[in-house]
Amino acid sequence: MTIQINALPEAERGRCPETYSFGTGFADHMFTQVYDEGRGWHDAQICPFGNFSLHPAAAVLHYSQEIFEGLKAYRRKDGGINLFRPEANAARFNRSAQRMVMPEVDAGFHVEALKQLVALDQAWVPGDAGASLYIRPAMIATTPKLGLGAAASYLHFVITGPAGPYYPQGFNPVSVYVSDEMRRAVKGGVGEAKTGGNYAASLYVSEEVARKGYTQVLWLDAIEGRYVEEVGAMNICFVYDGSLIRTPALSGSILPGITRDSLLKLAPTLGYEVEEARLDINEVMADIASGRITEVFGCGTAAVVSPVGLMAMKGRDYEINGGQTGPVARRLFDELMAIQYGDAEDPFGWVTAVD
Ligand SMILES: *Cc1c(COP(=O)(O)O)cnc(C)c1O
Repeated sequence: MTIQINALPEAERGRCPETYSFGTGFADHMFTQVYDEGRGWHDAQICPFGNFSLHPAAAVLHYSQEIFEGLKAYRRKDGGINLFRPEANAARFNRSAQRMVMPEVDAGFHVEALKQLVALDQAWVPGDAGASLYIRPAMIATTPKLGLGAAASYLHFVITGPAGPYYPQGFNPVSVYVSDEMRRAVKGGVGEAKTGGNYAASLYVSEEVARKGYTQVLWLDAIEGRYVEEVGAMNICFVYDGSLIRTPALSGSILPGITRDSLLKLAPTLGYEVEEARLDINEVMADIASGRITEVFGCGTAAVVSPVGLMAMKGRDYEINGGQTGPVARRLFDELMAIQYGDAEDPFGWVTAVD
């Protein structure tokens, strides 16, 4: 299959503006292809960015048959552009598709589409330190029908837009509230899939936590309300005694983050021990209080690493590392970014050049 390129004339193309904010400005082009039962995927194209026309009964609008992904293109010092583990994203996209009874895409073709799209819109990849071009692949069910059931037609699309450095004010810790009532995902449910409904369902708690004065919510497992799962829309890590990094083992309701996986592989090469385990929130809070836990941080594509300076549970605040960013979070942040931006060796073969 080939991708039909319907590009804007050079004179009508834009470029990354001086100032921009994540998720609100978009590059000139997008990728789309459509799926119909019987015919499979077809009409792959890169075309000018623009609105879709959808039937008001399109299944996605009523029953949320939708999946998405998130990854970034990084400007190297030599002017070239890197993607980070796009094959891992494509594989996760297909796992999400399976769970939501949507057709899989050809992973190699999907990555090729990302490369061609980013290459065409390379003027939109910012050059500032820590900035990137955010890439958002998604798939929606387009069949017009209100009867509940998997759709017969789908739209797969990719849009991109510039994202500034996640920490314009410095690498500062956030505060986290442990949700004792509301749950993000349940084992057997769809928490492992990057599907829109999970995020709509989390908004209520995010607002509540913000009203209490905290930045993020820490999610516990839905069955016992006892085991740590994630923080906001990130995975979470705890540093014990400055040397052991523990993160919740994938439980069926945790989104398997590519940043999480990358840190689990990278950290041992930097002299840290890593462990995936079931982490009881009561033990975690006790270990924070005793000082055995020296750092806590979230991890995900957007922030890479997000230090946590304060955790609150049942009305009580627990400070971590004096509320300051710790050395392990900083080291992992620096080392992973260096690989992504092509400033360091890439011993794992994670980086793919677009050019
Ligand atoms: C996307 C996501 C993550 C992080 O995944 P990355 O691949 O590291 O960006 C973690 N948790 C949730 C709920 C997510 O949606």
